[in-house]
Amino acid sequence: MLDILIIGGGPIGIACGLNAQKAGLSFVIVEKGCLVNSLYNYPSTMTFFSTSEKLEIGGVPFVSTHKQPNRAEALEYYRRVATSNHLPINLFEEVTAILPENGGYKVTTSKATYQAKRIIISTGFYDIAVNLNIPGEDLPKVRHYYQDPHYYAMQKVVVVGSSNSAIDVALETWRKGAEVTLVVRGEEISQRVKYWVRPDIINRIKEGSIKAYFNSELTAIREHEVDIQTPEGPITIPNDFVMAMTGYKPNFDLLKKWGLNLSTDKFIPEYNPDTMETNLPGVYLAGVVCGGLDTHLWFIENSRIHADMIVDDIVAKRLIK
Ligand code: FAD
Repeated sequence: MLDILIIGGGPIGIACGLNAQKAGLSFVIVEKGCLVNSLYNYPSTMTFFSTSEKLEIGGVPFVSTHKQPNRAEALEYYRRVATSNHLPINLFEEVTAILPENGGYKVTTSKATYQAKRIIISTGFYDIAVNLNIPGEDLPKVRHYYQDPHYYAMQKVVVVGSSNSAIDVALETWRKGAEVTLVVRGEEISQRVKYWVRPDIINRIKEGSIKAYFNSELTAIREHEVDIQTPEGPITIPNDFVMAMTGYKPNFDLLKKWGLNLSTDKFIPEYNPDTMETNLPGVYLAGVVCGGLDTHLWFIENSRIHADMIVDDIVAKRLIK
């Protein structure tokens, strides 16, 4: 029986593994995709808002040549942390079930069955996109993930949202020659947009390079056009691609199936904020999965500490026994 099974090989799952290793505990990290799968699926051009030292885990220095590191540097960093510490990580293996057994848990994956005394759930939120729930959303031209701006050159692109992701997509595709229309539900570009990017988008809108509809919503998508509800009434514009950058959410169905209590409004999992232990004894939550629908509350910077809290609690409880 393992001391700990860690579900998810993102930055925070790896941080938990590093701490478990330092504490001399036996553990395995099980990751359904590649190493740091979420980061791998970020846009190729992505720059973090955090400076590199804020993304460090396990006390391993993250050296970047930029003020804010980019995706390639982060992949390099987390890969080197995992490989140089010889962390046991089983990739391309999905955890499907957790069941109490023999005072611990039986964990079933797509490839094997494990027994572990404790479980750490660090499954993030990047696998499930928040849908628009409007007609036409299932058309192939509608994208919730974005890799590279070149693809959209000379195309009519509607970007939905005003988060960092939406604004990056709008600016990057416009700079590669797309005709960009931004549809924003609120009355302004989100204040959470990176401070060095926000003036850029505001000025592009002011000068008319990017068309923006505020207090507006996309209401229907068809093959060659979209409908937008604006404060001045409904409009229809020609369109080739819709980039629905409306956010992502944790896999609530899976968390519920595993037995976690979730709040009724924002699906925030129940956990002890001092130890990160959930309503299931010996099952802990780490990283951005903790936020429920409030996915902006947790990021690497402020959730890497979960690794210390959890492993300290596991070690303390082991000593008591
Ligand atoms: P994740 O990195 O999402 O890792 C969870 C892992 O669990 C994934 O690899 C997933 O494949 C795996 N998984 C899920 N379900 C299962 C299962 N059933 N079985 C096995 N494996 C499973 N944060 C910052 O601190 N600074 C930044 O500048 C920053 N910039 C960002 C920019 C963008 C565009 C985005 C989208 C996010 C950004 N974040 C930033 C947030 C940051 O990426 C996340 O906080 C970080 O990935 C969280 O790490 P995590 O380990 O909790 O979750």
